[in-house]
Amino acid sequence: MHSERILVVEDEEALSDILRDALKRHGYKIERAFDGDTGLEMAEKLLPDLIILDIMLPRMDGWEVCRRLKENKKTSAIPIILLTARRDEQDVVAGLDLGADDYIRKPFSLIELAARVRSVLRRSKANNNKENSIKIGPLEMDFERQIVSLWGENLDLSPTEYHLLEILARNKERVLSREELLAKGWGYYLGDSRTVDVHISRLRRKIEEDPENPKLLHTVRGRGYMIKWKEKSA
Ligand code: CA
Repeated sequence: MHSERILVVEDEEALSDILRDALKRHGYKIERAFDGDTGLEMAEKLLPDLIILDIMLPRMDGWEVCRRLKENKKTSAIPIILLTARRDEQDVVAGLDLGADDYIRKPFSLIELAARVRSVLRRSKANNNKENSIKIGPLEMDFERQIVSLWGENLDLSPTEYHLLEILARNKERVLSREELLAKGWGYYLGDSRTVDVHISRLRRKIEEDPENPKLLHTVRGRGYMIKWKEKSA
């Protein structure tokens, strides 16, 4: 089963239903928006793994949605598959120029849809850090066996702490906002940003010699958290 989350932005309800049902059968989690504005809002909140974006939308069309998604730092890395009814090759080229990853012409077969989705997700994963293990200073994580060690000693982390640490480690030296951590970690609806702070401080007690002066898990004021090894804490 996949657990990737896909946001479908399509105003035609019947087609949106078909997309949802087909993708759900493949094990994806589906979120839906029926216009461009809502699509943008949901993309920013949910940070899905993929967006399937119809071009012909009421008010704000798919081009504009695509352009704004790519302009926004939070959403710019999310791959986009455009749905187009148009025959014009120029449109497809324009869409790919805007940063879309692929396109599907209507009408399409569900087999084609599933294949495109799979291939775009595979490519996007390859761009993220999907290694099996990582070493950050004295911290080592084995993602396959879910083992974490510090200076060679195994650590006992709760599943939530482990998950949080994995997200941070896979994005090492990158600042992740609380919202990003929530979206990647627990799902947007399941917690608030205070929950993140609580788990971070628990994690620090386990991975930092002095939790007050962290050398691994840093707070970046006003922005979020980042994992980076610094011998001397800032
Ligand atoms: Ca449409």
